[in-house]
Amino acid sequence: MTYKAKEFQLVEPFVFEIKEKELPALRQGELLLKPLVAGICGSEILYFKGQKSEKKLKERLPMALLHEGTAEVVETGPETSMEKGQKVVVFPMLPCGNCDACKEGFENGCQKSRFMAATADGLARTLFVYREENVVAIPEEIGLDEAALTEPTAIAVNGVNTAEWKGREKVAVIGDGPIGYLTALVASFVRKIPKEDLFFLGIIDEKLKLAEEFATPLNSISQKEEIEKLQGKLDIVLECVGGKAQEITLNQGIGLLKPRGQLIVLGLTDENVPLMTNPIVNKGLVLKGSVRSTKKDFEKVVELLKDHGFRKQLGKIICDKRFVIKGTEDLKQAFEYADTEGEHARNNPGRVMVEFP
Ligand SMILES: [Zn+2]
Ligand SMILES: [Zn+2]
Repeated sequence: MTYKAKEFQLVEPFVFEIKEKELPALRQGELLLKPLVAGICGSEILYFKGQKSEKKLKERLPMALLHEGTAEVVETGPETSMEKGQKVVVFPMLPCGNCDACKEGFENGCQKSRFMAATADGLARTLFVYREENVVAIPEEIGLDEAALTEPTAIAVNGVNTAEWKGREKVAVIGDGPIGYLTALVASFVRKIPKEDLFFLGIIDEKLKLAEEFATPLNSISQKEEIEKLQGKLDIVLECVGGKAQEITLNQGIGLLKPRGQLIVLGLTDENVPLMTNPIVNKGLVLKGSVRSTKKDFEKVVELLKDHGFRKQLGKIICDKRFVIKGTEDLKQAFEYADTEGEHARNNPGRVMVEFP
């Protein structure tokens, strides 16, 4: 039996087109998957708006976006164990398997990997073929919206695990976007850091407030004095902002750390960012990057999602408005709505979810 898929391809900035594609027969270990719910990630909005380098846009488009999501098993290939109808989270990265990083178990650092909605087609399609080893089954009690947040939550898990923990740390997470929020949430749940030792720094009160049950929110603009009191007192800072603002946020982190403190960088930018080297050297700080996540991190998140309390906090960053994607116009509207530079999303927290009927 052969299947035909419709792919919602971004052909150029702001323009989606539907392409039909005949899918190959399933081989060993492969599943036929139908995407269900996916979240729109900031990295994808950059493609949508054409804010990636000319070169990347030329090389990578047309491309199906969306890399944070869930799917249903429609058909199973030889030597697979899942049943039809099983709902799964899709691990969006395909490491090469041969390089030193892959062989050393650091597959998220693979420089030759392919990643959905960056160097491979993402979930904006009606059907696709994928390896069973690259999906994680979703337990019954977990909703699809929550499960669709597995990828960004796994980035948070990887970030938290990149730091070295000895116990009783004072920690700050900088960045009130979804990754910052999830990183603070994971630090709270996994490392059991009490609220008074876990600071959540950002600039938008509505977003900061969401974390107040498990962290101490601090507004970097309006609460400068309180932040000043933390200078040189923290053990670990996780920077989750990226972009041009890193000149401010990384240096803020450097200032907050005590001698031998650790600055874990999750944020990304293509620009050169000036850093204060004196305090890095004088305080003997550790600066460490945390890149993406591994399949193990995905499994860890699915475990965490079984906890009702964790799901409750996670649910706070799911946007109320949803988009059902029947045509290209629906997808375009969803991306416009999710744009954090646009009117809605700047002040309103929440991953915008799209649903494929
Ligand atoms: Zn993402
Ligand atoms: Zn590799």
